[in-house]
Amino acid sequence: MLPNLKLSYYNHFIPHKDRGVYLIYNSFSNAMMEIDYEVGHVISKLNSMEIHHLDLDIVELMRENGMIISKDIDEFVEIKKRASNSRKVFTDSSTLFLCISPTNSCNMQCPYCFQGDKSAKNRDTKYLDENNINSLKKLVLNTVENPHGSKIDRIQIEWFGGEPLLRKNVIREFSEFVIDICAKYNLEFSASIVTNASLLDAQTWELLDKCRIYRIQVTIDGQKDMHNQVRFYANGKGSYEHIMNNVLLMPEEKFYLTIRINGDKTVFESISLLFSDLENRGIWPMRDKQIGFHWAPKFYNFLGFNQEKDIYYTSFEYQKSKHDFEKLRLSYFNTWAEKENRKNKNLRYAYPSFSDFYCTTVESANSFSIDDGGFIHKCYNTVNSKDKRIEHLDDFNGTNPGLDHYKKLDKTEQADCRTCKVLPICDETCNMRFTSNAESKICTVWKYFMDERMIAIYEQNYQESQRAAQ
Ligand code: SF4
Ligand code: SF4
Repeated sequence: MLPNLKLSYYNHFIPHKDRGVYLIYNSFSNAMMEIDYEVGHVISKLNSMEIHHLDLDIVELMRENGMIISKDIDEFVEIKKRASNSRKVFTDSSTLFLCISPTNSCNMQCPYCFQGDKSAKNRDTKYLDENNINSLKKLVLNTVENPHGSKIDRIQIEWFGGEPLLRKNVIREFSEFVIDICAKYNLEFSASIVTNASLLDAQTWELLDKCRIYRIQVTIDGQKDMHNQVRFYANGKGSYEHIMNNVLLMPEEKFYLTIRINGDKTVFESISLLFSDLENRGIWPMRDKQIGFHWAPKFYNFLGFNQEKDIYYTSFEYQKSKHDFEKLRLSYFNTWAEKENRKNKNLRYAYPSFSDFYCTTVESANSFSIDDGGFIHKCYNTVNSKDKRIEHLDDFNGTNPGLDHYKKLDKTEQADCRTCKVLPICDETCNMRFTSNAESKICTVWKYFMDERMIAIYEQNYQESQRAAQ
């Protein structure tokens, strides 16, 4: 039997000295097992054809977990099949996703922002006008009634900009239209908005409720002084107070607000101060069920964040900073919970999932980003780049080759990824990063922190089983 077997290429051997075991994790099968430390150490040194050194019961156990496989299996060929299936599932998505930028203008002048065309020529722009809205309505109706891809069972809208709340009338009218269509054709509906929150007064919260826009993303870039240095109005006045007051107006039910922090190394240093200000204002942690964070590290080689490498993150630092942010958030939360006699939270790591390989937004035949001039884009990060326009809504019939531009990516053919031992579970799946500039890709956290995370997951399970046995 043994001559026909080999070790999987995707094994990871993780010594866990404190418990005297080796953890073996396989990213192809997504299984983990533990084994005696000495035996694990030996296996970790073997080359793939040397399993005859192992006891048969260990070979059997490793076979069950996909760590020892038949010599005939080419795991990479199987991974290519998974990637291609994933692409097909995304292409055939039954969700009509519209990311709509009703204007690329903004009432703020944040210097780092890629949104809004800041050149003098285009400064006086630009609103999605009535003709464009009518064209967009036609696209929705046509897609629902005569889908060129899969039959639609859900419509999802994301309002984006510029500052989308500069165009509340467009948001109201178009949302009413889509909500009616969903009722008529029995489709699910959901909506979200990315806003700077400066216009989010009490009436606007009511408008969002009427339009069923319940997921809100607001950017706050660190503690007050730091935020005000980079997020200010045209008159130079900082926006922090204004935003905080509007966030406080959020109704107690229905909404979920994500505070996005565009983080660099300097912003990170001010996070504890931001947390304590949020607490003093009664925003967080007390409203933890309704308010969360998205730490969005600025990656130095992506879309213009290229210059100041000292403060922007590399791929490794990017993943590390996410981890550090999470630790900081939980430590702050737990100190507060202690004080308030509430339950503590533990830092828990999710077990890996199989990779999607690609971005659903650009892969789906039913996903469109619409800029302020009524032009279609596939990736919502390009809606403020006029040179990335694919075609106007009026010309759309689903056949423009530009719609497939970002689908040129075959991740399994990228040099680094082909040989990467975490390719089957890599959750960094942005087509645009790879297609625009292969160097701008971010690698998955599993590439950098496999050992630390797997040991933490093992410990979580171990502690739970100990508790259950008591
Ligand atoms: S930026 Fe990347 S992940 Fe986001 S929509 Fe574009 S391709 Fe998809
Ligand atoms: S971790 Fe990096 S090299 Fe590996 S598959 Fe993901 S993107 Fe590619």
